[in-house]
Amino acid sequence: MWIAEGLVQRYPTKALATLSASCPVYCGHCTRTYLTGPSTRRARRRRFRLALGPRCERMLERLRASPEIRDVVLSGGDVADVPMGFLETFVSSLMDIPHLRDIRLDSKALIGLPQHFLQARVLDGLHRLASKGWARGVDLCLHTQANHGSQITASVSQAARAVRSAGVRDIRNQGVLLRGVNSEAPDLLELCARSRDHAGIIPYYFYMCDMIPNCEHWRLALWEAQRLQEALLDRLPGFATPRLVCDVPLLGKQWVHQAADYDRERGISYWTKNYLTPLESGDGDALHRRYAYYDPIHTLPESGRRWWAAAGRRSGSSGLPAEE
Ligand code: SF4
Repeated sequence: MWIAEGLVQRYPTKALATLSASCPVYCGHCTRTYLTGPSTRRARRRRFRLALGPRCERMLERLRASPEIRDVVLSGGDVADVPMGFLETFVSSLMDIPHLRDIRLDSKALIGLPQHFLQARVLDGLHRLASKGWARGVDLCLHTQANHGSQITASVSQAARAVRSAGVRDIRNQGVLLRGVNSEAPDLLELCARSRDHAGIIPYYFYMCDMIPNCEHWRLALWEAQRLQEALLDRLPGFATPRLVCDVPLLGKQWVHQAADYDRERGISYWTKNYLTPLESGDGDALHRRYAYYDPIHTLPESGRRWWAAAGRRSGSSGLPAEE
């Protein structure tokens, strides 16, 4: 839910600002599918009411009035789809807010369209922002999304080094776990090694694929993600060991070993939260509620599949049992 149009606060000290609803990539597993790209027959997208300028002004006003927020992520969409002059002005204004200490720019264009980050006007703008951030004690980082080692091409390596030479403190990778792409530990380890060795990109997070239409073939069960996390722990240095996380609906990002309860037979994991955002302050049950994430049916044992088939028959066509 937005606290100002385009501004989401799902965690106590962090906010996500959306400047653009477009993206140069349009992944099938898009984690911003509620907004990014045009509506399709299967998925309707939310639309902005305000134009970019007034929307950014409202977001800045809200952030100035929210001293608990210290960390702003610019995502979307993709910051590469925002004109560099506008992006520079907005980020510079963020840096003028005294309580903001971390600014992250999200861009998969570094992987899908690395030429964007080799343009002089982009690198010059990043350099001016990084210099201002350094002087004001604000970290400016770039977050990107690589899902397989083969995506770390020579152009990606060149662009990543140019961005870091411009003064951006770190480039971190937030990938998505995809069956058949990176669902085996050797694939993830190779991706982590190539991104660090060839491009200086730090492995940061891998998200379990969201429960969105047409993604069941990519999704992993929670137990598979937990096993992958364990396989990575002893093979990478601590500072470059990515955390495998699940974006639990209505809750937010949780480490895969944080589930409060897990019914392996039915593939339902239950999660709890230990913080409130301003929008939840009147919701007395938020800290006691259990939030569910569902494994893909094809990963369940036969007994679990039978249970879901029977539940589907009981509840009509939704497939969700009446008691869930
Ligand atoms: S790069 Fe990010 S915003 Fe763009 S389509 Fe992929 S997941 Fe969605």
